[in-house]
Amino acid sequence: MPTPEMERRVNRRLDELYERHVDEHENEVVEYYDPEAPEEEKESFGVSLVSAADGMTFETGEHDVPFPLQSISKAFVYGMALEDCGRESVLKKVGVEPSGEAFNSIEFDERANRPHNPMVNAGALATTSLVLEGDEPEKCMERILTALRKYSGNDALDVNEELLAAQFEDTDRNRAIAYLMRSHGMIEGDVEAILELYLRQCSVFVTTHDLGMMASTLANGGVNPETGERALEGRYVRDLLSVLYTCGMYDAAGQWAYEVGIPAKSGVSGGIMAIVPGKLGIAVYSPGLDEYGNSVRGIKVCEEISERLGLHVFANEAEDILLGTAKERR
Ligand code: GLN
Repeated sequence: MPTPEMERRVNRRLDELYERHVDEHENEVVEYYDPEAPEEEKESFGVSLVSAADGMTFETGEHDVPFPLQSISKAFVYGMALEDCGRESVLKKVGVEPSGEAFNSIEFDERANRPHNPMVNAGALATTSLVLEGDEPEKCMERILTALRKYSGNDALDVNEELLAAQFEDTDRNRAIAYLMRSHGMIEGDVEAILELYLRQCSVFVTTHDLGMMASTLANGGVNPETGERALEGRYVRDLLSVLYTCGMYDAAGQWAYEVGIPAKSGVSGGIMAIVPGKLGIAVYSPGLDEYGNSVRGIKVCEEISERLGLHVFANEAEDILLGTAKERR
């Protein structure tokens, strides 16, 4: 357990981190995914760090502002597909190779007749069709919500119907992808129901605090460290994190693996969750996006946290945020 003095130091460092990045707009090409949102929301910026061991939380900025999961939901629904169908059946329907293409690209792994991976839209439509198989759409959405609530420990998580309706109006490309996939035999069933279920999961609102808890649940082997509830079978956590490591950041996944070096998933709403297995869940929310659809400040903050805490999986030098550099400690 950290002493109150250590807690104060971490909080101070986090506030300093916030200040360093709050005016960061470089490389920003999209200000906000919803142009009609109130002006102050566009400037929201929150960071949440949650310990995998006990759920202890350190936060800064607007960590209580709700935003939609968007593509971050793909991670959790992939986990559900693994639980529902087992990894072999899921692998037949959706690959685990980074596509190098944008999240909404109409590209498939033609040799295996499946989408490249579950973190692009085509792959998420495939995993959504797998969890829907043999279930009623409403019941299936309830199952998805139940899982998301277990990850976050927040029973109030729900779909924002207004956003869902807006997304439904503007989803020709996803619809085209889904019908094309069905024509190739990559998915089966009612395309409109699959599409709606996909957009519903994208429209679940969370706060940065919720997302930090969700990330820490994955860091804790699938068990929410605060409630003790299991959200995902332990054996699938490895599969999910492997895919997040290589495919979680759209077509910037390689750059992320190089610079930050931990599994993560982003969404076009500006959220990023990153997972340090056995240690920490990290969530950042800031709506300004770069050309890949990733949060500009979110990337910067994760780069800095990873570097300063030595979290990159291949790092061998840590500068500890609490204790100073390794040299100073000696
Ligand atoms: N609802 C969005 C879409 O499918 C989600 C995409 C995302 O976050 N990349 O277009």
